[in-house]
Amino acid sequence: MKFGGTSMGSAGRMRVAGNICAGQSAGRPVAIVVSAMSKVTDLLLDTLRKAESGEQAAIETNLKQLEERHLETSRELLPREMQDNAEAEIQSIIAEFRRIAQGVSMLGERPPRAVDEAIAVGERLSALLMAGHLEASGIPARAVNASQVIVTDSVFGNATPLMGPTKDRAVAVLQPLLDKGVMPVVTGFNGATADGRPTTLGRGGSDFSASILAAVLDAAELWIWTDVDGIMTADPRLVPAAAVLPQVTYAEAAELAYNGAKVLHPRTLAPLVEKGIPVWSKNSLHLEAPGTRISPTVDAPNGPRAVTSMGSVALVSVEPADPELNSVLVMSRALGALAAADAEVLVLTSSSYRQSFCFLVRADELPRSLERLESAFALELAHGYLKPVEVDENVGLLAIVGEGMRGIRGIAGRIFTAISQANVNIIAIAQGSSELTIAIVVRRDGLEKAVRAVHDECGLAGT
Ligand code: ASP
Ligand code: MG
Repeated sequence: MKFGGTSMGSAGRMRVAGNICAGQSAGRPVAIVVSAMSKVTDLLLDTLRKAESGEQAAIETNLKQLEERHLETSRELLPREMQDNAEAEIQSIIAEFRRIAQGVSMLGERPPRAVDEAIAVGERLSALLMAGHLEASGIPARAVNASQVIVTDSVFGNATPLMGPTKDRAVAVLQPLLDKGVMPVVTGFNGATADGRPTTLGRGGSDFSASILAAVLDAAELWIWTDVDGIMTADPRLVPAAAVLPQVTYAEAAELAYNGAKVLHPRTLAPLVEKGIPVWSKNSLHLEAPGTRISPTVDAPNGPRAVTSMGSVALVSVEPADPELNSVLVMSRALGALAAADAEVLVLTSSSYRQSFCFLVRADELPRSLERLESAFALELAHGYLKPVEVDENVGLLAIVGEGMRGIRGIAGRIFTAISQANVNIIAIAQGSSELTIAIVVRRDGLEKAVRAVHDECGLAGT
């Protein structure tokens, strides 16, 4: 089971998580993965940014806040006799973070590998508290730093697990605990390279940590505890009529996550595919809700299942000015530049005699994408073979996801009609590369309207 930041957000939330653990571990062995307490990772990252710009007073204020939050939780959660020990451990973990922050402040720079080492501190603190609480409640438990278990490549900030070595470590480190009836409380989000350099799996990566461990431990099921009732037909803040889906397929959940649904980290399902391990997305604030079951296949009719959207995106257009230019080569070099920028291409469309093409990236990946593109085509741009790269940030992405959508006649037409009847302009469309997603780029100020219109047209309310 994995508990997210809200589920670890206070002593009260940790108690609820503890009850869930007690209930489940009575029947079968359970390992848990925990996120940092809510907002802690943001606080740590903010502290490192302040350190980079040498704002000493701000660093101290943040560290004070970090310490207070965890000491207070510890005092509220743990029995008297565990206090001194817990307090000392909290302080020693925070001291490690402080040392790295000071290093960053001295360098005036935040090297990615130092950042990765520093920010896993949030998960180490919550794992410490949660393991202490379980022990105190009579459930044998041990906090485990995932840097001892999850072996990754060395892409700091967005590392990928090496499943073979990770399995060996899990068998060596976690299995003996499980065999002895001790519940491992593993830090989410982090890992380490084979030679021990700390890494992280990307923001929101604790879901991914949990699925990696579920796969290597041959888990029967993975339960992901969050603060919403499950995967929904749309973001309920945009669409009041949005409903919880009782079941979705791996592919649907992955597409939804990739296209902006916040409920799961997009890479979560990949490690589970081979063994078909089912995942439950459940709400620790609403235990009666059944949640969503995510599995390889479901027994529901094909068709649109949910609509997601992303507001912070940018559409970049590249257009050759000279027909002599080999446009396929231009496209391949442009994609190479985006790969070098470590940017994700959310949508890509191309057409027309002039061989122009455009692609959609996340707004926060735009500056480095442009930098790489413009340097890759410096000569062509300088000599006018390529028109200046155009950027439109006044756009949003909407995606309709459902198994077998490509095979349903008339669905695209209905969706486009619904969007245009809501008076929203469609700017780009991508369908066909995936069986199950139609991605549509619209004007940013029409995004919410378009999501509601499509949700309505597809009859998703109350499904
Ligand atoms: N604490 C990390 C984050 O906020 C990982 C996670 O919560 O999944 O990104
Ligand atoms: Mg999360």
